[in-house]
Amino acid sequence: MNTHRVEPGTAVDLSSIDPHETGGLNKQQARAETKQLNRRLEALQELLYAEGKHKLLIVLQAMDAAGKDGTIRHVFDRVNPQGVKVASFKKPTDRELAHDYLWRVHAHTPGTGEITIFNRSHYEDVLIVRVLGLVPEERWSRRYDHIRDFEQLLADEGTTIRKFYLHIDKAEQKERLQARLDNPDKHWKFDVGDLAQRKLWDDYMAAYETAISRTSTEAAPWYVIPANRKWYRNLAISRILVDTLEGLNMSFPEQTEDLSGVVID
Ligand code: ATP
Ligand code: MG
Repeated sequence: MNTHRVEPGTAVDLSSIDPHETGGLNKQQARAETKQLNRRLEALQELLYAEGKHKLLIVLQAMDAAGKDGTIRHVFDRVNPQGVKVASFKKPTDRELAHDYLWRVHAHTPGTGEITIFNRSHYEDVLIVRVLGLVPEERWSRRYDHIRDFEQLLADEGTTIRKFYLHIDKAEQKERLQARLDNPDKHWKFDVGDLAQRKLWDDYMAAYETAISRTSTEAAPWYVIPANRKWYRNLAISRILVDTLEGLNMSFPEQTEDLSGVVID
């Protein structure tokens, strides 16, 4: 299942990828299939935990209002809340800034049997950091290689990695931000600071293109997910995750003890 995958070594051109894509489905069809995949994901998570051999890291990156939170809510709808961890990476603290940029990230990577979702990630260190010039180019430009090596290390030590860029266009972002502004119950989600980032849209697209192109590897591939339609976004990601977990060929551990004679009184 290589739909939406950025083949390692190729340069991605985001302007050529349609954020409205629906895979030929309508909303109803997509939702029905997603529901089934939600159940499959629930079972696969349980198996992952029970087998205790693999670890899964999911990286979510996107512009503001592109739907990172909604993706987490809908794709993991059925999964046992104890089975998935979410690590959100915000503006680094002083203590985090006193270290290298991967320091705060490494500690949150999944352990055996775990699934961890990065809501933003070390990629911010070649995205916002590059766009706003928070460190000199000489520093951020070396980071693509560090990141490839870091992710290769995780993969070599048994982590399966899937990275998703939620692809919306600028008009869709405007609509979503406007909807938040128009609804007082959503004002808590409205961040005036997002407007400053929105002004830098083209710079962000360029930074995303470089990041995705330079770090989509066999060990840690990127997927560019058309995300203007939330229901297609949820379906596309669910499909990839189910397919990934099924590809691990997991099985429940052999029972070492014979339970056939056990009586509970
Ligand atoms: P939401 O707005 O949906 O609650 P969010 O992920 O946008 O979620 P915020 O607290 O609004 O969370 O924003 C986090 C901000 O921190 C983003 O603008 C992001 O670019 C920024 N950030 C994350 N990592 C870094 C970093 N390493 N250096 C500088 N800024 C960072
Ligand atoms: Mg925000």
